[in-house]
Amino acid sequence: MKPILDDLYHKNESTPERLLYLLEHLDSEAQELLFSYSHQTRLKHYGRQVYLRGLIEFSNVCGRNCHYCGIRRDNLNVDRYRLSREEILACCREGHRLGYRTYVLQSGEDPYYTDERLVELITAIKAEFPDAAVTLSLGERSYDSYQRLFDAGADRYLLRHETASEGLYQRLHPDSNFHDRRQCLKYLQEIGYQVGAGFMVGLPGQTHEDLVRDLMFLKMLEPEMVGIGPFIPHGQTPLAEFKGGTVEKTLIMLALTRLLLPEVLLPSTTAMGTLDPLGREKAIKVGANVVMPNLSPVGVREKYELYVGKICTGDESAHCRVCIEKRISGAGFEVNMGRGDHPSWRR
Ligand code: SAH
Repeated sequence: MKPILDDLYHKNESTPERLLYLLEHLDSEAQELLFSYSHQTRLKHYGRQVYLRGLIEFSNVCGRNCHYCGIRRDNLNVDRYRLSREEILACCREGHRLGYRTYVLQSGEDPYYTDERLVELITAIKAEFPDAAVTLSLGERSYDSYQRLFDAGADRYLLRHETASEGLYQRLHPDSNFHDRRQCLKYLQEIGYQVGAGFMVGLPGQTHEDLVRDLMFLKMLEPEMVGIGPFIPHGQTPLAEFKGGTVEKTLIMLALTRLLLPEVLLPSTTAMGTLDPLGREKAIKVGANVVMPNLSPVGVREKYELYVGKICTGDESAHCRVCIEKRISGAGFEVNMGRGDHPSWRR
């Protein structure tokens, strides 16, 4: 076990066989060593800094039907909403006032937001806040569309690969295609975005082999950002009766990701805070270095319910900002409100 962890720590690489062995045999002692290595690696590249990004969930309308997701097309119980350009800009303004220099615009795959509307929106945000980065998380679009949004000023794009196992992917995404999503990640890299991939932990039927495939895929893709969170079942989805992922297994995957991609921007996700009141702090302590507090208007937050029990839906953005800072400093880290680009990235 120790040679595998030492290799990860010193060379930032591994093999599928070694990673599988590690996942199958990790005892508490080895886990402690893994977490201390991942923590040391983050200290080396980022010190104790944790970047904050303001998350704006601007539409919960979605044309896809992902089995795990609470806002899937067939969930007729969702009260669907769309924020207008002015409402989104107001969120950015509030965010800017609170010090945020990255706005993450996330939505379902909502056809209302055409390239034209998005270009107009991104242009307006960039004109008003030239010092801020715009991150998009809008799902799969065409190469041409990604290019137009990039040309309008979008800096980054989050598109989790969800799982790197084709069979599992196809079972969970009835009307999507495994290869299309991976192709989208390639397009985004080619165009010049800072790209975020990532996956869920604890999906129904997911094995250690699947998780190893996720790690090897990330190592090959080398994205600037990686979003990893536990799967949390939502009552109005086909996966309602399944068990979700655990905080502990997610921490292990975060730590391994930090070791394989030492400079990656790695969020401590809201899903971690949902499963465990201290879940986000725990993630930061094993190598996560980004937190994405909510900037959406309080009135719509509960409607963007990807999974049950999502936290912070009743809190004003200003409250979230203060709460998160307290948590980060309480855990022994420091908030960094800068744009927080990936160290190797140049536009
Ligand atoms: N429509 C965009 C944004 C998706 S929502 C897209 O396609 O990329 C952001 C992420 O939430 C998803 O990528 C997925 O990994 C995660 N998610 C969705 N449902 C979830 C659930 N039930 N539990 C945990 N994470 C979930």
